[in-house]
Amino acid sequence: MIKQFVPQEFCLKCQGCCRFKEANSVWSPCLLDEEIQGLLDKEGIPAASISIDRRIQPIPNPDGADFICPFLGASNNMCRIYDMRPFECQLYPFLINLRKDKLLLTVDLNCPYVCEKINSQEAKDYIAYLSGYLNSPGQLEILKDNPQIVQAYEEVREVAELKLPHEIK
Ligand code: SF4
Ligand code: SF4
Repeated sequence: MIKQFVPQEFCLKCQGCCRFKEANSVWSPCLLDEEIQGLLDKEGIPAASISIDRRIQPIPNPDGADFICPFLGASNNMCRIYDMRPFECQLYPFLINLRKDKLLLTVDLNCPYVCEKINSQEAKDYIAYLSGYLNSPGQLEILKDNPQIVQAYEEVREVAELKLPHEIK
């Protein structure tokens, strides 16, 4: 599990994550192959929760006009698979981004917590930790085997350059 930057108490009061404007949103978390298998092996998780392009498949929000992750507990705003939530969910508001043949660690400043803290020493320390984690040999292997999680998100801020496995170029 990745050490978290945003405190859980802050996230529980925020409605910024796990909700999407469209059913096929590019912001819906991409899944590692092993995560897909883990979800499919878990009792009670329908295969339709995973899209054909290896993302979580959002469902219509019963309380609104948007879409929500099928694993979001609507009554308490909690993730029902928190202990096995996908890598991209653990990473957010940070994202792995491919831009002009560079692999970048980026951040989505739409997250109110990180937006306020991005220039703090705490954020600098976290970015150093996260870059080290993502550049570790084990994580590079995971990236190499799961190129689907390297996306080209727009309107995110670059915070560090990462090692680019040549399989992804
Ligand atoms: S937008 Fe930021 S603060 Fe809000 S739930 Fe997501 S990670 Fe937490
Ligand atoms: S798996 Fe959990 S953390 Fe990830 S989008 Fe769904 S509800 Fe949110």
